[in-house]
Amino acid sequence: MRAAVLYGSGDVRVEDRDRPTISAPTDAVIRVSAACVCGSDLWPYRGVDSFGEPTPMGHEYVGVVEEVGDEVRDVRPGQFVVGSFFASDNTCEICRAGYQSHCVHRAGVGGAQAGYLRVPLADGTLVATPDVPDPDLVPSLLTASDVLGTGWFAAVAAQAGPGKTVAVVGDGAVGLLGVLAARQLGAERVIAMSRHEDRQKLALEFGATDLVTERGDDGVARVRDLTGGLGAHSVIEAVGTGESMMQAIRSARAGGHVGYVGVSHGVELPGEELFFSGVHLHGGPAPVRRFLPELIDLIWNRTIDPGKVFDLELPLDDAAEGYRAMDQRRAVKTLLRP
Ligand SMILES: [Zn+2]
Repeated sequence: MRAAVLYGSGDVRVEDRDRPTISAPTDAVIRVSAACVCGSDLWPYRGVDSFGEPTPMGHEYVGVVEEVGDEVRDVRPGQFVVGSFFASDNTCEICRAGYQSHCVHRAGVGGAQAGYLRVPLADGTLVATPDVPDPDLVPSLLTASDVLGTGWFAAVAAQAGPGKTVAVVGDGAVGLLGVLAARQLGAERVIAMSRHEDRQKLALEFGATDLVTERGDDGVARVRDLTGGLGAHSVIEAVGTGESMMQAIRSARAGGHVGYVGVSHGVELPGEELFFSGVHLHGGPAPVRRFLPELIDLIWNRTIDPGKVFDLELPLDDAAEGYRAMDQRRAVKTLLRP
């Protein structure tokens, strides 16, 4: 099979690799219908995250179950499935509380930018769609695997809901789908913080009511202007830098909630400012599995169209260009077809 492998900074190659096989009785192997490049893939691509060996890339996937291990009960060959980037048993106490990304048996899923993918703990990780989807639904179902699930968790963690004003820091795919999630959860106003026209346009399509182009403390001041000087009830942080975290915390009102899902890089929070802010912080790797049934339903019924976030689609063999386009911000998000 063909697979995208990261060899070094800026060096993604698509090469022939062995097809994965069932190695534990709880595994499934799926034939990948579509995969994509994640904003978090850019950290190692840019050399910010170090890695040793050449690394098979990709953790967002939808596909058709090809084969299952002896102990798999719920997932069957031929089903079209969506999974999360962390495998989970979905039965332990942490999973049952809705935190499958912290499952006591969690395992990373990697190498999804490939023709086939092995998924551990298949019964707890994969959710089948009602039927084989229409081709135009596939991009949206793919977003549920991570980028939509992550934006959704951020909105839930920030307690977005009716009557709330939600500010969104970060105009990458997760931030944009955080806008969609906040509106879907009933938020009254959604302030998207973006200085890029194409991303502003998508934010408005996803339901943003206000746009703020300023960043840092100027952006915070604009959010406060728009909220009677108080700050937003809910803030989604979808970047992961110290600057974006402080922009998020300072944009929230006392008693407000920040949902942070940008993978943290070098973030150090000043204790005293945090102490006096009166702001709730909740985030981390999204328990996407918690939301998959609901998100698949909303997509299947065509209530939401999160697949619009893909503005570049390439054959898997052109994965290197998909990474370059996102790295240079020529594309919001790249879909890859094996
Ligand atoms: Zn678990």
